[in-house]
Amino acid sequence: MTQLQATQVQVTQVQASQGQTRTTATSVSPMPQVHDLIARGLRPHVEAIDHGQYPASFMRELGALGGFRQAVPREYGGAGRGLAGTLEVMEAVAAECLSTGFCVWCQTVSAWYVQSSDNEHLKREWLPAMMQGERLAGTGMSNPMKHFAGIEKLRLKATPTQGGYLLSGALPWVSNVGAGSTFAVVAQLEGGAGDSLTADYLMAMVAGDQPGLTLGDGGRFIALEGSSTYNAVFREVFIPDDQVLAKPCQEYIGRIRPGFILAQSGFGLGLVAGCLERMERSNERAGHVNRYLDDGVEELGADYREARRRTFVLAEQIGCGGVPLGPEATHEAVACRILASELSLRASQAAMLHAGAAGYKAGAVTERKLRESYFVAIVTPALKHLKKLQASWS
Ligand SMILES: Cc1cc2nc3c(=O)[nH]c(=O)nc-3n(C[C@H](O)[C@H](O)[C@H](O)COP(=O)(O)OP(=O)(O)OC[C@H]3O[C@@H](n4cnc5c(N)ncnc54)[C@H](O)[C@@H]3O)c2cc1C
Repeated sequence: MTQLQATQVQVTQVQASQGQTRTTATSVSPMPQVHDLIARGLRPHVEAIDHGQYPASFMRELGALGGFRQAVPREYGGAGRGLAGTLEVMEAVAAECLSTGFCVWCQTVSAWYVQSSDNEHLKREWLPAMMQGERLAGTGMSNPMKHFAGIEKLRLKATPTQGGYLLSGALPWVSNVGAGSTFAVVAQLEGGAGDSLTADYLMAMVAGDQPGLTLGDGGRFIALEGSSTYNAVFREVFIPDDQVLAKPCQEYIGRIRPGFILAQSGFGLGLVAGCLERMERSNERAGHVNRYLDDGVEELGADYREARRRTFVLAEQIGCGGVPLGPEATHEAVACRILASELSLRASQAAMLHAGAAGYKAGAVTERKLRESYFVAIVTPALKHLKKLQASWS
């Protein structure tokens, strides 16, 4: 067991001693099988994923193991272990490959939207295939999250029509989508008053193959190329009433927001864990000189453990959702998400400095992690967006 795995076990033990874990005989952790699957079904393919291959069979197998159902209540067929269970799965995947860790977030957070809504049709008919990983699920929520934070205009409009709404507009990037997929969007109702406090909005699940919807080339990125990211153009796409998650949706978004933000810490912390593991490896060869670096395994490891402890404490409070949370939960989720972003940047840089030229070679794990780490800090809510939120509360 590496020092890092040992600290993860310690955190779990601390949570258990504080009565914070909810594992019961009927919600057994799938982590041993998840680690086996990562070793056999993900590790050998990470380079291909970095070059654009979507990890389809890994995602399907992870779904079959229960990887996406951890935070879904048992009454809807979930494991009922809460957000902490989701975070454990995401961390383990992202420690190996951030692109795939992000896809795990997309899949699980989409299930989070459905389970948190009042839409029984989506819960019965769509949720099972989403949490099983049989249906890819994405989330086009960057634009609305930025809109509600006063950063940009909403890009989708909804026109009421018989039995539903016609959606028009475009989203620049939606990940983890493709044939047979579904993803969540927010649209502003035509004729609404215009600003984010007074206008009427709806949030809905869209099917990737609905008439009028085009999933096009989203361009090339420096990392995350295997995340199946597309540009989504809507031309009067008909959304029936039974695909609507909430209308109006501002109160509902307030409910799903802490879980949405905190869950992203799962892939950030996973990346940090992966970097710490690279640093430990580099130290086997060059520890005698690496020890002069400011950010070593000890310093970074201590900050990582504290960030992870805070993240899991909040995750246990949020559980499977459905519990009333005050504004402090959102504030703490934002603080944890900031820690995950800043630690990701620090850890990938420290890993590179530890590895030296071996890590600087094209195709080295360390150079991939350096590219990946910036994604943690730029995906919505980006570090600048999170800091803007914090500034508005002080
Ligand atoms: C790999 C990857 C995957 C992503 N997956 C998702 C996803 O699944 N769901 C989701 O909702 N968002 C996704 N995003 C978007 C992401 O969350 C951010 O919203 C996006 O990176 C813009 O944030 P920003 O802070 O740079 O925006 P700002 O700096 O505020 O830029 C404002 C806006 O300008 C537009 N823009 C800027 N540059 C370009 C460009 N070159 N081409 C097109 N438009 C541009 C974008 O709309 C952007 O939101 C993804 C981004 C990347 C890089």
